[in-house]
Amino acid sequence: MNDPVPFVDLRAQYADIKPEVDGAIAAVLEDCAFIQGPYVEAFEHAFAARLGARHAIGCSSGTSALTLALEAFGVRAGDEVITVAHTFFATVEAILGLGAQPVFVDVDPRTHSMDPAAVAKAVTPRTRAIVPVHIYGAPCAMDAILDLAQRHRLKVIEDAAQAHLATWRGKPAGTLGDAGCFSFFPGKNLGAYGDAGAVVTADDDAAARMRSMRNHGRVAKYEHDLVGYNHRMDGVQGAVLSVKLRHLDRWTAARRRLAALYDALLADAPVRPVAPPPETEPAYHLYVVELDGRDQVRRALKADGIETGVHYPLPCHLQPALGGRPGALPVTEALAGRVLSLPMYPELPPEAVERVAAALRRAAL
Ligand SMILES: *Cc1c(COP(=O)(O)O)cnc(C)c1O
Repeated sequence: MNDPVPFVDLRAQYADIKPEVDGAIAAVLEDCAFIQGPYVEAFEHAFAARLGARHAIGCSSGTSALTLALEAFGVRAGDEVITVAHTFFATVEAILGLGAQPVFVDVDPRTHSMDPAAVAKAVTPRTRAIVPVHIYGAPCAMDAILDLAQRHRLKVIEDAAQAHLATWRGKPAGTLGDAGCFSFFPGKNLGAYGDAGAVVTADDDAAARMRSMRNHGRVAKYEHDLVGYNHRMDGVQGAVLSVKLRHLDRWTAARRRLAALYDALLADAPVRPVAPPPETEPAYHLYVVELDGRDQVRRALKADGIETGVHYPLPCHLQPALGGRPGALPVTEALAGRVLSLPMYPELPPEAVERVAAALRRAAL
């Protein structure tokens, strides 16, 4: 019997860095620096420096990062925000939470990310911002998106929740638009030990507003300039993230090697790996293939001890909470039934990739 292959393995990563992480957490407890404070600030500086960003604002999740950025860049009730439905629901929740209207555009069938031609058709006088989602960790077609934004004076808020250290023409995802929103959910490429997120931006005023908004719109103790949120980052998460950031380049390189191995092993298999735009170096949060008979193949792999994922089985516009009808986004809707995410994490042994590829070749129709 072959060894089981999990989809991700957070224990393997913890085992790799346990003394460092345990020491960092103990220091936070010693200092009782539970919320924001020096450990969060140290992480903000390190993260901004690694991305070449002017500001990083730590917050409580990727979802709150999106909310803070959209609001700080002027998205208000009644505004339209152009985004995709082939994403995690949080992208859309952040827009709706501000009373704004998500306007969904279809994705490119090869890259699975925002189709700029569709964005051009979706702009109206009420459009305020575009939220490109760097899905699977591969940056969107940013030249065209930034160009459209400039022409129509729209803000670009990148959902970089899956794209830590991914690049577009050598520039990090998250630093391409007006703001970049990151999630540090434990399973993300840079994962905290609980919920956490961050916004990066070059805009001084927006950065100041976000710092205030994440902490009740506070300027001084019991003095509130704005109506904000409790969207603060915990000290423990800041400390864990600072430790893990030091390993992120190594982990990202490992993901890229494993993706290249999958690419080579699946080159002539009856599956179609996603083709990220050539200007990108993806971070491979996910390694996704497109295939016929997805659910049947997935069951066969599971029976063989191989865990896979589906990102995402039901597009956002068709979620019960939004009540949309099928037909509006043909590429997105077709992909939902055809995408399969293969095991991918930095500690995944190359032999496991070989085993997955061989099993996939046997199971694929
Ligand atoms: C994970 C994720 C989010 C939300 O991040 P949380 O930290 O879970 O709030 C938003 N968008 C995308 C694309 C994600 O993958």
